[in-house]
Amino acid sequence: MSEADLIHRDEDPGAGAGRYAPSPTGRLHLGNLRTALLAHRAARERGAPFLLRIEDVDSGRSREKWVEIQLDELRRIGVDWDGDPVRQSDRHELYEAALGRLRSDGLVYECFCTRAEIREAASAPHGESPEGAYPGTCRELTDAERAERRAAGRPAALRVRAAGARVLFEDHVCGPTEKVLDDFVVRRNDGDFAYNLAVAVDDAEQEVAEVVRGADLLDTTPRQLWLYDRLELDPPRRFSHVPLMLGEDGRRLAKRHGAITLEERVEAGQSAAEVRAELLRSE
Ligand code: GLU
Repeated sequence: MSEADLIHRDEDPGAGAGRYAPSPTGRLHLGNLRTALLAHRAARERGAPFLLRIEDVDSGRSREKWVEIQLDELRRIGVDWDGDPVRQSDRHELYEAALGRLRSDGLVYECFCTRAEIREAASAPHGESPEGAYPGTCRELTDAERAERRAAGRPAALRVRAAGARVLFEDHVCGPTEKVLDDFVVRRNDGDFAYNLAVAVDDAEQEVAEVVRGADLLDTTPRQLWLYDRLELDPPRRFSHVPLMLGEDGRRLAKRHGAITLEERVEAGQSAAEVRAELLRSE
């Protein structure tokens, strides 16, 4: 196997900040609360600051009412944080500046593909892209082709030229993890900044030293590492992707598993302290 283009080693975060970064799209379920507790405990055990960031960059799915509800759920479960929570919706200038930098380095292009087109192109016989990867359809469009697509009223997403970069990182929980990147989206075609861009800019700007998050995001980290590299930002020193909490049937926690929010557990007679203890035991 060839040498990685980018390597990130697991380093001791020292007294550098930890964080939890919920998306206000609903109540936190027990799995989210457990991740928050683990992130919080890891930071506090090191005597480090713990930050809270509201990831409301997805304007279609984020709702104001969930912000206060989530903060309340976190407080009740015993998570505290330093300073006021920051909100991604207040930080568009930072993301715009990062995008500008990538753009001026010639790393950004417009992509007019629909999801269906990407699926189709990626599954074509002899397709060379790994499964689910963007096949590069719009990468080399000419100015005239782009103008034609714009004139047809197709909104463009913005992608970065990352395809083929091989990223290796040492996850503190999952161990060495390697991924070959595709050209991923940094701004969606509805105008929202993409999660990977916002999270990388934020973790660097907030000087986060340790990221503890769910294992469902393991796959996103190589993309963020690529962005840190291209933007010349310091990445967090440690990434810990903790296992997702599963229902009794071994599947990802969902409504059908019964009482999966703090509120539902409290209604069923448990105290918040009991839920906290149960979650910390369930590691
Ligand atoms: N906002 C993401 C979520 O709620 C978490 C992102 C992260 O921790 O990097 O799933």
